[in-house]
Amino acid sequence: MKVLVLNAGSSSLKYRLFDAGREIGSGVIERIGEQGGVKDHMEALKIAQDRMGADGVLSSFDSLDAVGHRVVHGGEKFTQPAVVDDELIDVLKKLVPLAPLHNPANIEGILTMRKIAPKIPQVAVFDTAFHQSMPKESFLYAIPLELYDRYAIRRYGFHGTSHSYVCKEAAKLLGRPPESLNLITLHLGNGASACAVESGRSIDTSMGFTPLEGLVMGTRCGDIDPQIPLFLNGKGVDAEEVLNRRSGLKGLCGHNDMREVLKLADEGFADAKTALSIYTRRIRKYIGAYAALLGRVDAVVFTAGIGEKSPKVRELSCRGLEGFGIELDSTKNSTGEVEISIESGPVKIFVIKTDEELEIARQTEALLSDARL
Ligand code: ADP
Repeated sequence: MKVLVLNAGSSSLKYRLFDAGREIGSGVIERIGEQGGVKDHMEALKIAQDRMGADGVLSSFDSLDAVGHRVVHGGEKFTQPAVVDDELIDVLKKLVPLAPLHNPANIEGILTMRKIAPKIPQVAVFDTAFHQSMPKESFLYAIPLELYDRYAIRRYGFHGTSHSYVCKEAAKLLGRPPESLNLITLHLGNGASACAVESGRSIDTSMGFTPLEGLVMGTRCGDIDPQIPLFLNGKGVDAEEVLNRRSGLKGLCGHNDMREVLKLADEGFADAKTALSIYTRRIRKYIGAYAALLGRVDAVVFTAGIGEKSPKVRELSCRGLEGFGIELDSTKNSTGEVEISIESGPVKIFVIKTDEELEIARQTEALLSDARL
């Protein structure tokens, strides 16, 4: 099956083409809608089609078997990937207030593709879907219940496609079915989230109503006292902007790129050292909290840019967790191995490269194969 995976952002379009689960083409088109850039998503998709044509991997979109779209917010309606139809598009439009930065672009990608290749089945794969298995105790906030009923204020969780992918990969490494495993997965990229996985299902995650809650991120604050934004707004400060774009590592030491933070910390810059300590201390708190929720942990998984590439962050994040059975082998950690826990450790620690697009392609293929049975 030839599946094109699209990740449409407000000003960019990432695409990857898979044939029988193997990548045969990929690219990014940036500066969509900007001056001197590409006019719109329609033009961007045509460029993508031309490029894949020139590379000899796809004659036209009509020769695809399916298109899989990354959609950030599926609300409560979608617990699984879903075939795109008019009703689905209506639901996504209603969810725009919950994901104003992401869903409009995702919808744009879907509508444009429908225009270009109306006969090709399209599937939406949601970042929130994997977390829809969370129980009420995890997804409800302790605020008046009527606010949940009226405004759908609850924890949704994000990065679900990545958490789900690394769970399955961890299961392969352990040689056990995912349903038998309790895992703590740590997606540490520009955005970052932790997930508690019980018997293969998400039962808690650190991101909440929006992707602002939880771990410290590149520019996002993660957990803070909810009174702070109210206080800031009262002072005339745009709290939404500050907490989303000028906080996290950037707020603490002026740099949101972890490579830079690590370099400066290594050179002894105090703010960078503090930022790194706060970042990894928060991860430790979540590992401890999720170990308490899960009772038994089979493995801790590090993934995404920072999780995959920074031995230092992994080391600091696991420091002092020996009492939980979580102990790093410092040599394995620094030499790029997949399994980095000590030999006798009851809890395995893995570094697993995430691949959200491959997971979207797989889920798209699985859904359409099921539909054809
Ligand atoms: P996104 O969340 O946008 O998909 P990634 O998963 O690629 O991002 O992660 C981006 C983060 O990974 C950045 O903070 C970057 O600094 C960090 N990163 C990339 N390479 C390294 C490295 N070698 N060491 C530490 N951090 C790294």
